Amino acid sequence: MSTLPETARASEAAEPIRASATPATASPADLPVEAEEIAFEIRNFSMWYGQRLALQDVTIRIAARKVTAIIGPSGCGKSTFIRALNRMHDLTPGTRLEGSLKHFGENLYGPGVEASVVRRRVGMVFQKSNPFPTMSIADNVLVGLRLNGVHDRGVLQARLEESLRMAALWDEVKDLLNRPGTSLSGGQQQRLCIARSLAVQPETLLMDEPCSALDPIATAKIEELIQTLRERFTVVIVTHNMQQAARCSDRTAFFYMGRLIEYGDTRNIFTNPGNPQTEAYVSGRFG
Ligand code: ADP
Ligand code: MG
Repeated sequence: MSTLPETARASEAAEPIRASATPATASPADLPVEAEEIAFEIRNFSMWYGQRLALQDVTIRIAARKVTAIIGPSGCGKSTFIRALNRMHDLTPGTRLEGSLKHFGENLYGPGVEASVVRRRVGMVFQKSNPFPTMSIADNVLVGLRLNGVHDRGVLQARLEESLRMAALWDEVKDLLNRPGTSLSGGQQQRLCIARSLAVQPETLLMDEPCSALDPIATAKIEELIQTLRERFTVVIVTHNMQQAARCSDRTAFFYMGRLIEYGDTRNIFTNPGNPQTEAYVSGRFG
């Protein structure tokens, strides 16, 4: 799938905005994070579907090897935002973007940057688990590696076990590796999709409402897994479940009508929000 010309032009137009430049004024979205490594440095980022502005002037720094939750009412732009982080919108005709979006210092929309390379470094897990229906559990995990030209059996076997262990699924499936991926339960399928993303050794894992189709026990397993993933990966999770954001994230970003309203340490956002809209949302008065 080729990159949209609009997207390429938008990123060139965005060149003057440099993440390395010190902003003239401190934005409320900037946390005092100088001492920690930054995974995403996003400046003045806007996105349109055709004429429709879906994200407006978002500036945010997302810390590496932490869990950042994206919250906000339905339609506020959560999915649009997280999909921009690994160039999923390249596949949607008519999208246009402005601003700068860097991942570990690299402009993800820069000239010559391939979306397939971005998606290997920044993995994505969706709301509905989507194992490839014709593939075994093992093949589902290894499909990305094989597409990347890895065919050494020893390497594949090692990566299979490592990925399934990281996804907290190995013990449950180690004797069933040749069964279809779709034979697993919903929660196991979601962890299989996480293993599939981890197999290509990304730096960052994006999750868009990964538990919304799961029961409470399967949800608890995924939340527990997220806690272990943060030691090695940067995790960005969209959730409409505020308890989930409060339980499993370090930082929380509240979006409303396409804008980033407030961003900070999760505890602060939930107990002492600085913005009345955030306060109204986290206390359940709308959304
Ligand atoms: P959320 O994930 O917070 O529910 P979305 O990011 O899906 O919100 O949507 C943000 C806005 O963009 C909504 O108004 C939605 O209708 C619109 N939108 C989302 N996807 C598309 C699309 N492919 N084409 C046109 N508009 C879209
Ligand atoms: Mg969504």
